[in-house]
Amino acid sequence: MDVVVLINPTHPEGQLVDAASPHFSPLAQGIARGDGIFETMWYDGTRVKKVDEHLWRLRRSAGLTGMPVPDDDTWRRAVATAMAHWRPEDADGTLPGEAMVKLMVLRGYAPENPDGYAWVTVTPAPAAVRPTGPIRVALLERAFDSGTMGRAPWLLLGAKTLSYATNMAALREANARGAQDVLFTTSDGYVLEGPTSSVVVRQGRKLLTTDPDIGVLPGTTQRVLFRAAAEAGWETGLARLTPDDLRTSDGVWLTSSVRLMTPVAFLDDTPIAMDQAVTDELLALLLSTD
Ligand code: PLP
Repeated sequence: MDVVVLINPTHPEGQLVDAASPHFSPLAQGIARGDGIFETMWYDGTRVKKVDEHLWRLRRSAGLTGMPVPDDDTWRRAVATAMAHWRPEDADGTLPGEAMVKLMVLRGYAPENPDGYAWVTVTPAPAAVRPTGPIRVALLERAFDSGTMGRAPWLLLGAKTLSYATNMAALREANARGAQDVLFTTSDGYVLEGPTSSVVVRQGRKLLTTDPDIGVLPGTTQRVLFRAAAEAGWETGLARLTPDDLRTSDGVWLTSSVRLMTPVAFLDDTPIAMDQAVTDELLALLLSTD
C-alpha cells in the first residue's frame, strides 16, 4: 500500500523499492544525527497539490542546511513514478482517496555517499490530521526571541528539518492540558506557528500571518491561500502577532497542506471569534488553487 521511490543516478525516473525494507546506510549523517529535510504534500484524490511551492521551500531548506538535493525536474519525475504506483486502499482512520506525498532528504557520509539519500513516499492521509470541528489550542513558549533567527542561523529556524521531536513533545503537552494543538510563542511575546501548521488571523477583511523573519517556516498553504484571497479582494500581510491580537481577532485558523484550515475555538481558555461562512469562503479559495 505504501509507496517508496528512491532517487539515484541509475534510475532517472526514480526507483520503486520495497517500502518495508531499509535502503539507507546506518552510517548516513541523516540517520546518525537526524540531519535531513523534508516536505509533505497533499494528494487530493486527483493530483498532488502545489508542487511548485513545496519544491521552492525544499530548496530554501536545502540552502539553510547546506544539503545537496536533486533538481526540481528529478523530484517531479520521482513523484510521477510514485503516484503511478499508488493504489488507494481506504481504511478506517484515513481520508478516503487522499494521500500524503513526502519528499525526503538525508545527509550522506563521506567519502562513499556525499550526496546523501533522496526519496519520495506516498502513504494514506490520516484522518486525525484534519479535525472535523473547531479546536482548543495551547500557547507554549519556544524559548527563543524574535531576533534569534537573525542572530543564530545555525539553529535552522525556518528550515523544514527532520528534527520534529520537540514539536511532537509540544503536542503531547497540549493534549495533557486538554488542547488539541499548539501555537508556539517567542520569549518576547510573539505568536510563531503550530508544530505542524501556520497561523492565519482575520481582522475584518484582512488576513495576517506571522512574518517568517521571526523564526517560522513559510507555510505553503498560507501562501497560496493569501494569493487566492488577495485576488478575491482580501487584504493580506505578514505581521508580528501577539496572543492579544489573536484574542481580539475575528478568527484564527491553523493551516497546513493535508489539514487545510482548522478554525481555532479557544486559545487556552479564551474563546476566539468564529464564522463558519468565512471559513467556507476561505476554504473554497484554498481549494481553487493548484
Ligand atoms: N509550520 C510548520 C512547523 C510545519 O511543520 C508545517 C507543515 O507541516 C507548516 C508550518 C505548514 O506548512 P504547509 O502549509 O506547507 O503544510
